[in-house]
Amino acid sequence: MPHDLPKAYDPTAIEDRWAEYWVRENLFAQPTPDAPGGEPAFTILLPPPNVTGRLHMGHMLNQAEMDILTRWRRMSGRRALWLPGTDHAGIATQMMVERQLTAEGTSRQQLGREAFVERVWEWKRHYGGAILDQMKRLGASVDWSREYFTMDERLSVAVREAFVRLHEQGLIYRGAYIVNWCPRCQTAISDLEVVYEEHKGHLWEIRYPVIGTDGKDSGEFLTVATTRPETMLGDVAVAIHPEDDRYLHLHGKKLRLPLVNREIPIILDEWVSRDFGTGAVKVTPAHDPNDFAMGERHHLPSINVMDDSAHINAEGGAYAGLDRYVARKRIVADLEEQGLLAAVKDYTNNVGHCDRCKTVVEPRLSTQWFIKIQPLADKAIAAVKPDAEGNKAIRFTPEMYEKTYLNWMENIHDWCISRQLWWGHRIPAWHCSTCHKITVARVDPTACSHCGAATITQETDVLDTWFSSGLLPVSVFGWPNITEKNRADFDAFYPTSLLVTGFDILFFWVARMIMLGCWFADEIPMPDGSSRSLADSVPFREVYIHALVRDANREKMSKTKGNVIDPIEIVKEFGTDAVRFTLASMASPGTDIAFNVARTEGYRAFANKIWNAARFLFMNVDRAAEIGIVVDPAALGGMPTVAADAPLEARWVVAELNATAAKVNAALENYRYDDAANIIYQFFWGSFCDWYLEIVKLRLDFSETADKAATKAALTTLVSVFEAALRLLSPFMPFITEEIWNALYDGNPPAKSIALTRYPQSAQNSVDASALADMAIVQGLIVEVRTVRKEIGVEEKAVTPAEVRIDAAKQAVIQTNSALVERLARVSEIRFVTKISATLATHSTPDFDVAVVYERTIDVPVERERLTKDIAKYEKGLAAAERQLSNESFLAKAPSNVVEGLKKQESETRQLLEKARGALGALPEN
Ligand SMILES: [Zn+2]
Ligand SMILES: [Zn+2]
Repeated sequence: MPHDLPKAYDPTAIEDRWAEYWVRENLFAQPTPDAPGGEPAFTILLPPPNVTGRLHMGHMLNQAEMDILTRWRRMSGRRALWLPGTDHAGIATQMMVERQLTAEGTSRQQLGREAFVERVWEWKRHYGGAILDQMKRLGASVDWSREYFTMDERLSVAVREAFVRLHEQGLIYRGAYIVNWCPRCQTAISDLEVVYEEHKGHLWEIRYPVIGTDGKDSGEFLTVATTRPETMLGDVAVAIHPEDDRYLHLHGKKLRLPLVNREIPIILDEWVSRDFGTGAVKVTPAHDPNDFAMGERHHLPSINVMDDSAHINAEGGAYAGLDRYVARKRIVADLEEQGLLAAVKDYTNNVGHCDRCKTVVEPRLSTQWFIKIQPLADKAIAAVKPDAEGNKAIRFTPEMYEKTYLNWMENIHDWCISRQLWWGHRIPAWHCSTCHKITVARVDPTACSHCGAATITQETDVLDTWFSSGLLPVSVFGWPNITEKNRADFDAFYPTSLLVTGFDILFFWVARMIMLGCWFADEIPMPDGSSRSLADSVPFREVYIHALVRDANREKMSKTKGNVIDPIEIVKEFGTDAVRFTLASMASPGTDIAFNVARTEGYRAFANKIWNAARFLFMNVDRAAEIGIVVDPAALGGMPTVAADAPLEARWVVAELNATAAKVNAALENYRYDDAANIIYQFFWGSFCDWYLEIVKLRLDFSETADKAATKAALTTLVSVFEAALRLLSPFMPFITEEIWNALYDGNPPAKSIALTRYPQSAQNSVDASALADMAIVQGLIVEVRTVRKEIGVEEKAVTPAEVRIDAAKQAVIQTNSALVERLARVSEIRFVTKISATLATHSTPDFDVAVVYERTIDVPVERERLTKDIAKYEKGLAAAERQLSNESFLAKAPSNVVEGLKKQESETRQLLEKARGALGALPEN
């Protein structure tokens, strides 16, 4: 048969095939629109993973969230564009290739810059972007035709233009500043790339001789404290607080720097804390940011005593050539020998390490390129702060990150954009050895722009990776080259709609994009030709910060703990769909995910359930076809409808589907992936499989005597609801839904993919409330009868009468649908009574009392125990409800629907209690 699905659901068998098909058919490409207007776009930029990267659980969550939203928006009629790419990742990539060279017994220095860079490109061509291949396999619905790499020619043009333009605007300068220097990577690194670890070290107290008025040592000492004694070689002063009583007599005096014999002044500075150490602070402007600031205030020189590899340089005299820690030991020993070491104290402090290679970072004076952060930062603040009307150009979810962002942005320093690497965008600046001025140019110059000499050499530094990735929202659409095509892209897709990312790159990347986007995009006119406001210059309108994926015990995943879950392994075992669904079912704003494989196993079973439902459905479709009953294809693809006089279960399942669609759409609108996933799960497993399929079996009569119209109507509802439910599930489980949807259309689907169909939307007033209410009564009765049967030990296959006491209106509902109750609860006959026979075990709900007539005397002690327990439970519940309802302050504050709900609950519990007491009283004596 054509729509035969294999008996067993095997995700590996179907996922590879569809993943490959989606890419081959370029299904999610979003070309430049031919004309303005049309559906509003939903644009989303993939945070570009490092080209060296491999997919981890954080990516998997991030990408699952983006894919769900993109597929949902696309199916909801938006022109959806999800743009992928990779980042050249300066330090990470250079380190990786350097490691290879080391293994080959060579080094980048031996290779030389040009050959090394060529070698990195070669590496990139062979191995780069493996993470995008992983994304392809996982079915991410991105536009692969727009894939970029941050070192691509066209993106490099944007980087160069941005640099030159900022330089022309006086916003880029070169200067000496204390940077975090990694002696291993031999480059400056950003504050954000430094990880601090607690370190048990020492505080060394060193005695500096005070020089007397005669120019000789006076015999008095001023004691300073330091955690890095080797930096004393670069001391240029000692600072004390101007009001420190202990040192008033030293004002204006000089000290002799031990080991170096340099005369250095004692300076007065209010920054000095009198309580720390001895209250006297050595000042080393070239090796500490605070000392640097003090040096500026007091016009002191800066003496850099270390080279790029953190060895002491020529300024260190006798210690020149020693590694910083070897020098430290030697210096401490020498001081001790000279009687100048006052004390060594244990001291725990936070030591900065390079995030990439874990080497201890050396704060060090270095000449770097900087972006003057104002007025860029002010614009980036204005883009997030509410305006006079309370509107925000960029909205953060969870909202708390807005404060985090603003707080950081308000305290931001000038941004050091140069890195001493070879892999990256080389800074377009040329140094002239004749006039010593700098030429910055869009096109490589042949002569100095100041003196005309040809004696120019290009700056060796490259730009910080975040400089190029910060430009992505404008550069991916072709800025600064605003051709007609690029202009059309900007008109259609800029500002992007949403950025989904982790907290860890809020400052690195999100903030940079906002600064650079707001700065450069405003030159591109709006589609109608008017000028672009700040609100439309922003790179994205919304930022969603996703949570962390932790292990099942809520521990952070880490290699050292060995609790890292490899998403690819889990996917192999359970399928992509089950892993995606696991993540979605736990993802909501601000909540970390405790990833539990047991849940993935559960969702794999869910997929299996859907698979089996499809097989059941196809079997019936085929049987119907044999007797000429065929579902009209026009019934599929939209929201199913049913006739007003259709059987209850048909009206009910359509009402449920509508209610589910409304809830799922609302949940996704608010990033409640968890609610959306759980609501779909409940519908599919509970309403559709457990209830509807069981009931519809009654209606699918293919016999000679069948009412063909009724069978066809039932089959149509079954197929159309299932088809719509597949579309509802599709963004969450794209593979299994694609497979079944295609099978459903028997090789002749109305679109190239289920992902290109329409997402179920609940039409207004389409939820048939009376169908829901009636079905609830029928379901309630079936559930109670099943429970009673179990309790009194009715054999599985036995069919028994049931006594029901119920009000007239509800009795009519049961009577109309008695076939359902009889079939699903194994009831031979429903006897409506005004009072349940005293000998029968009775179950009561607020709607009805029910008992199963079964020829087995009830076990009185067991029944008494059960009723006693029930009574206790009801009494407790009633007391709690009464307590709350008599609490004045609760009543004053609680919303009215909550109070109403509580009152209803109270009266229902009271009824149940009375019934249970009555039943207990009616039990025969032992
Ligand atoms: Zn490093
Ligand atoms: Zn010159």
